[in-house]
Amino acid sequence: MGPPGVGKGTQAARLKSLLGVPHVSTGDILRASMKEKSALGNEVRGFVESGRLVPDGLMGDLIAERLQRDDATAGFILDGFPRTLEQVATLDRVLGRLGRPLDKVLMLTAPESEIVRRLAGRRTCPSCGAVYHLDSKPPAAAGICDACGAALIQRPDDTEAVIRERLRVYHAQTVPVAEAYRTKGILAEVDGTGDLDAVARRLASGLGRAA
Ligand code: AMP
Repeated sequence: MGPPGVGKGTQAARLKSLLGVPHVSTGDILRASMKEKSALGNEVRGFVESGRLVPDGLMGDLIAERLQRDDATAGFILDGFPRTLEQVATLDRVLGRLGRPLDKVLMLTAPESEIVRRLAGRRTCPSCGAVYHLDSKPPAAAGICDACGAALIQRPDDTEAVIRERLRVYHAQTVPVAEAYRTKGILAEVDGTGDLDAVARRLASGLGRAA
């Protein structure tokens, strides 16, 4: 968990290698469906591009389907789900059916000024999904993906007005989710500032593992 731009996607990809379980990012799944122009993609585009949350019913179906796949039987890292209290209840139901409770909820934190700076400078590769930052992780050739050579883009929801809306939605709808997990005793807050290796080490130790 954590606000948009705090580094969930980047760190989840690293944890995936450490733990050997899939990284399930609901944002990535939605963006892939939008790119394919599938029925789901067309239905969610307006929500995603304006920084609002996709309705809980749609998200519940999506996560139930994803967590039932074979690659998730040994575990998974959820990134970007659950984001509302209703999604917490859905996840409990799905995991109850699968007989697999949540081990731990890690919440990355960073000051809001840092988050806005990170998101406004973020550039992504629409082809392979690699993520760059204009200041802290620029590509070798401006505007071109190092990994696959495609032209980099700014996510439509990484513009300043939409960033503000995403932060508002985070505070209104997702902070209560963190509080629910805190009450359950499975939430660990992890400082998301500093270099990527340091954050990765803190996350691993939050899971009782060495990075
Ligand atoms: P992210 O990549 O996690 O920042 O997600 C990008 C956008 O996808 C969000 O601003 C929402 O519009 C949508 N989204 C991702 N995950 C969820 C979720 N669990 N519930 C509702 N909307 C979501």
